[in-house]
Amino acid sequence: MNETSPSSRSPAASGGCLCGAVTYEVNGPLRDVIECHCSTCRRFSGGLWHGSAARVGDVTIHDEQGALTWYRSSDEAERGFCARCGASLFFRRIGGDRLSIAGGSLNNQDDVKIGVRIFTGNAAAYGDWRSDAPEFEAWPPQHYFDIPE
Ligand SMILES: [Zn+2]
Ligand SMILES: [Zn+2]
Repeated sequence: MNETSPSSRSPAASGGCLCGAVTYEVNGPLRDVIECHCSTCRRFSGGLWHGSAARVGDVTIHDEQGALTWYRSSDEAERGFCARCGASLFFRRIGGDRLSIAGGSLNNQDDVKIGVRIFTGNAAAYGDWRSDAPEFEAWPPQHYFDIPE
């Protein structure tokens, strides 16, 4: 890793929650996304956690309404979400120097690509990216929304 002024080499990124109460700016490099299939990330995110990350010192969080809420999900880590809209935003280890940032919260999601998938041994059946489920670039035919009898 090159330690020479990384922030001068990388474009600033920004993002926020669904309702806009919590926004952030990153003035430094972003890590590629880690896709985590563990049960804690599934419950936190409601799906899969796609976490980019930045150095804590490079991130400025704007939260005038005090909507950002931290939930201590284990002895070692806590997770930040917007208490107004429910968006899952952040993960950090207690005392750590990195802030994991939900890839889906980035304003420009072209900034990051997937780097690794982890805890795939815990993956839900629906989380199997290797499946041959049909794909659509936008809305699928209506019957895909049907609930079985
Ligand atoms: Zn929000
Ligand atoms: Zn996880």
